[in-house]
Amino acid sequence: MTNHQPMALVREKLIERTAKKLEENHMTAYYAPTLEDARKLVQELLPKGCTVACGGSMTLSEAGIMDLLRSGDYEFYDREAVPQEEVDLVLRKAFFADCYLTSCNAVTEQGELYNVDGNANRVAAMTYGPKSVICVVGYNKIVPDLEAAVARVEQVAAPANAVRLHRKTPCTVTGRCEDCHSPDRICCTTVIHRQQRVPGRIKVILVGEELGY
Ligand code: SF4
Repeated sequence: MTNHQPMALVREKLIERTAKKLEENHMTAYYAPTLEDARKLVQELLPKGCTVACGGSMTLSEAGIMDLLRSGDYEFYDREAVPQEEVDLVLRKAFFADCYLTSCNAVTEQGELYNVDGNANRVAAMTYGPKSVICVVGYNKIVPDLEAAVARVEQVAAPANAVRLHRKTPCTVTGRCEDCHSPDRICCTTVIHRQQRVPGRIKVILVGEELGY
């Protein structure tokens, strides 16, 4: 047994029991050992020519999925390809897209998705609108329960995203949530997806590599 095998087993078992709980909550779970596997899975789940939108995400960039969406095979509602005054329209069009792609801030071992948003377009589209939602999630975002999900967002995800987005918030100085009232606050709406009314509408690809914050 090589030295990395014990950790591989721990990671795979973590993903396995989380996937089982997601399925119990009527979401479809997939396991992608690598980034490349995740990208291929997304490609299989996206019919060519479909309309697609996405939430801002480091994970989607790191996994090469943004490049896939811009390949010309899809009608991609790309907020980065339009002038600032048209961004809001592109975000609203996402509700009518065939498919919505995003990551999650945390996924619990109980099979719940935990997300915190600034203007809430991402959590809104995840919740209702697009016929299919694909979440790509690195194993580093799996946490035991909702309490740990809150801690993960306050201590890791939100401060890191605030830095990435050049926000003037206290967490970009202290590196942890200060529960600010800043106009730049990125944590305004919290949504927990516990179970899906439409089975399989949300698909969660759990990746065996660290991805995003
Ligand atoms: S509430 Fe404010 S301080 Fe806390 S993580 Fe969000 S943006 Fe940062």
